[in-house]
Amino acid sequence: MPPARIHLSPPHLTGGEAAALLAVLDSGWVAPAGPAIAEFEAAVAAATGFPHVLATASGTAALHLAFRVLDIAPGDEVWAPGFTFVATVAPAVQMGAVPRFLDVDPASWTLDPDLLRAELAAAARRGRLPRAVVAVDIYGQAADLDGILAACDRWGVPVVSDSAEGLGASMRGRHAGRGARVAALSFNGNKIVTAGGGGAFAADDPVLVARARHLAHHAKDPAPHYQHSVTGHSYALSSLLAAVGTVQLAALAPRVAARRALFDRYRDALSDLPGISFMPEAPWGTATRWLTAMLVRPDRFGMDREALRQRLDAAGIESRPVWKPLPDQPAFRDAPRAGGAVAAALFAQGLCLPSGNGLAEAEQDRVIAVIRGACLA
Ligand SMILES: *Cc1c(COP(=O)(O)O)cnc(C)c1O
Repeated sequence: MPPARIHLSPPHLTGGEAAALLAVLDSGWVAPAGPAIAEFEAAVAAATGFPHVLATASGTAALHLAFRVLDIAPGDEVWAPGFTFVATVAPAVQMGAVPRFLDVDPASWTLDPDLLRAELAAAARRGRLPRAVVAVDIYGQAADLDGILAACDRWGVPVVSDSAEGLGASMRGRHAGRGARVAALSFNGNKIVTAGGGGAFAADDPVLVARARHLAHHAKDPAPHYQHSVTGHSYALSSLLAAVGTVQLAALAPRVAARRALFDRYRDALSDLPGISFMPEAPWGTATRWLTAMLVRPDRFGMDREALRQRLDAAGIESRPVWKPLPDQPAFRDAPRAGGAVAAALFAQGLCLPSGNGLAEAEQDRVIAVIRGACLA
């Protein structure tokens, strides 16, 4: 029998989820309201330091609510790094906003604050500032939010933090996303901890969270009948999933330690190979290494990252190219952009390796052996 396939980042259960689910079922509170939701929201607040949290059906729903409470309107520009997952901007685009993609800093793979500062000054001269800037934490590395906030504060542009990949990461002593007007978190199945699907909208301002809560529950106005001044969404999280999320959040610290240890082991075992390098850790924080990402220089390694991906796949190992830059996606071919050479180079050479919390040492050794073998081939 061939060895079991190794996946990129499968969900990793703690063993406590079934009991938590049963407790919610026994309580009868299975609707998207009640004590399990309140407990999950309190757990997210405790994990991140955000005082006000709304549980949402997904991270993308939290981002959509962020764009709603910021009153993004058709034709508004929303700026984001090009090196990210499509959900960073998709809800804004669906609201009629125009995305504009900025390049990332090679030292962190996150939005470049110097480029942002220069682009905002140029936009101000044109008289067309963005309505929002989205900072994105990538592969468990917090963006340089202080630099981004300083650039945006000068022009009064609000910052949303897409911290879907940032849970557990820190930046200058605080949790990733802290300081942004709104942060969006994800508890999707592939993230560092999961609710089986879910997200959170987190903010310092209770008024923003109250508005998001109203919109997430169909924007029902207070009245005995159904009354709506605006249209909302069905974005609430199920109590059942919230209970799973609370159990998983309690394991966040050991999960971060496990992902960091996996990253270190890959780096120690592979860094001597010609043409191989690993995602840098930014000096301002501690990354979770949600996914281990490395770069493959084909001229030195002897094959490119796609050939290596296929070699791993043939050995029963899932790996993935890093994010394809959004400005190169057909969906955004007409979107304005600033720079992009860094993101393009990362995509040309970047590969994410199996990074699951539950990856056994022997499985990681298999991954390492295939990569070493590919280089010597
Ligand atoms: C996972 C992810 C999202 C979306 O989260 P969902 O919970 O899957 O909707 C958004 N942005 C980034 C950068 C992500 O990695």
